[in-house]
Amino acid sequence: MSEIKSKLEENKTKGSKLKVFCSQCNREINHLVLQSVDTSDTEIYRFSDSVLFWSDNYQIIRCQGCDLVSFRHLSYFSEHEHEYSDGTTSYLYPKRAKDMRKVKDFNNIPDNVIRIYKETVDSFNNGSFLLCAAGLRATIESICLDKNIKSGLVTMLDEDGNPKRKKDGSIETKRSNSLDGKISGLHESNMLTQKHAEILHEHRYLGNDAIHQIKMPSRTQLILGIEIIEHTLESLYEIPEKGEQLNARRKKV
Ligand SMILES: [Zn+2]
Repeated sequence: MSEIKSKLEENKTKGSKLKVFCSQCNREINHLVLQSVDTSDTEIYRFSDSVLFWSDNYQIIRCQGCDLVSFRHLSYFSEHEHEYSDGTTSYLYPKRAKDMRKVKDFNNIPDNVIRIYKETVDSFNNGSFLLCAAGLRATIESICLDKNIKSGLVTMLDEDGNPKRKKDGSIETKRSNSLDGKISGLHESNMLTQKHAEILHEHRYLGNDAIHQIKMPSRTQLILGIEIIEHTLESLYEIPEKGEQLNARRKKV
């Protein structure tokens, strides 16, 4: 037989200050508790004299550096208390931490492309590195779909991975609808510079089929991949739009 006693307290921690990470200030900084609700439950086992205790503290908090309002949840369970833990877990919403990647603000990118980019960054932040690698490739696929790029020339390679040469010494190429081919297609359509297309080709998790071998990518490789994708989105969608806005403004004057 057991008995549960529940308690709810409003604004017990209102006005108190605590140090948590702020995504805008990009550091740990004082936050003020604007509102709070604390719930706790105690379960008492009459015959064994044992007691279980769990509590949840919910707080609306405001950064004292940039005024950003966010949410903090502290969860405690007595059974989770051991040598290496006090039994408390802290959650911040929106999720953030020093090593998390912020989704960049883009204004001129089609919905289907931006959705895949955001899911790719979310996968990285949640530690789903294989899914993130797949997302990097899917983002390029979605760009090619949006730009109607279906193929491009790829360099033929020999067994050692070196470019195959024709009898006249020139490098052998073929038209391909693989992702490599589509990246070349972006350059052939003058949407990307040769250098930019080469960077996409060269990145292990963007241009070739490393993901098909199900090898776990490293954090550093994925950060580089995300940065290359963000740079590609910037140059394909944001910069041309800014250029058009400048032109329109110049014509008005
Ligand atoms: Zn802040």
